[in-house]
Amino acid sequence: MKILVLNCGSSSLKYQVIDMDGEKVLAKGLVERIGMDGSKIKHTKIGLDAVTREVPFANHTEAIRYVLNMLIDKEFGVLASFDELAGAGHRIVHGGEKFTKSVLVTEEVIKGIEEVSTLAPLHNPANLQGIRAVMEVLPGKPNVAVFDTSFHQTMPSASYLYAIPYEYYEKNSVRRYGFHGTSHRYVSARAAEILGKDPKDLRIVTCHLGNGSSVAAVKGGKCLDTSMGLSTAEGLIMGTRCGNIDPSVMVFLMEQLGSAKAVSDMVQKKSGLLGLTGISSDMRDIEEAAEKGDEKSKVALQILINGVKKYIASYAAEMGGLDVVVFTAGIGENGIDFREKVCADMEFLGIKFDEEANKVRGKEKIISAPDSKVTVMLVPTNEELVIARDTLECIK
Ligand code: ADP
Repeated sequence: MKILVLNCGSSSLKYQVIDMDGEKVLAKGLVERIGMDGSKIKHTKIGLDAVTREVPFANHTEAIRYVLNMLIDKEFGVLASFDELAGAGHRIVHGGEKFTKSVLVTEEVIKGIEEVSTLAPLHNPANLQGIRAVMEVLPGKPNVAVFDTSFHQTMPSASYLYAIPYEYYEKNSVRRYGFHGTSHRYVSARAAEILGKDPKDLRIVTCHLGNGSSVAAVKGGKCLDTSMGLSTAEGLIMGTRCGNIDPSVMVFLMEQLGSAKAVSDMVQKKSGLLGLTGISSDMRDIEEAAEKGDEKSKVALQILINGVKKYIASYAAEMGGLDVVVFTAGIGENGIDFREKVCADMEFLGIKFDEEANKVRGKEKIISAPDSKVTVMLVPTNEELVIARDTLECIK
């Protein structure tokens, strides 16, 4: 049973083919600049070198048609025919309150995704293009929608409501939704599995720290709270997003800049590490600059470290205790120094860190001391696998 996993952005498309017997990735790739000059595909059949080709792709349907042909190619393909493909799983950024779990795509589901597109105007329409393209190129093949927001739908209203007049929640759906749900779901479940514990018995804080970052409080296997909100800009400072901010700053900036779009661009694309340092949105550059003595980089780094510490401690308080802290995604999986700084001076919370064990990248590992009350772990995320598993489940 093989599953095609698709993650469509407005001008890009990432894909994997996963063999569910053994859950092995057979091929993966990336199409960039769809609908623009210089569009190209980078395709990797696992075991062979990647091939990059410049191909003009006018739209997602053309790109998906090309990807599918690659998948049955004699040299670079991994399928004898499309009959081997059980279906396609699609990453959908926003499911609003409508979608609390992954679903088989029907016309009604498409309508539902369209309806919540007002909440993710850049992402959902692009995600839908992927679904439509597969429907067109492989008619009859089942498609499954897997939402970034679903895992967080178990949050109680005390976690998801903003304290603005209630009618804005009722009429305009303004509330916290949370994102990176497939990642938080995967790493929290995997952490319990590694520890040989029932998720029901654990209070876990999952720290997904990448270009976009979010933290979640997972109690008894369910999301109790998370740092991202109505959009992906809330919570921690990120590569280019501002994170938590006094709402008056927005109003002030709106008056200064004269347009909502200009402010939105600023807080989404020009803020965070990049905005504070003027150097880069990439953590590696910031760490390097800080090491060389750049004051702004040192401060930006400290703001992010403080932010993660605050979420761990506040979620521990919210859950009535803490059993496990999980680090994942680019910074979480690779930032040895970063993890050490986050976990420093956290003994008061029961975290006894093991600096030697922490010298690891991208591997499942316990990085707290054996006698630490709280287990700190590294669990590489695997959102594609979650999408493939859900797809298989829904198709069955
Ligand atoms: P995305 O959110 O785009 O999926 P990733 O999860 O790939 O992003 O994370 C990208 C981030 O991970 C970047 O800020 C990058 O600098 C950081 N990162 C990658 N390798 C390292 C490393 N060795 N040390 C610190 N940060 C790293």
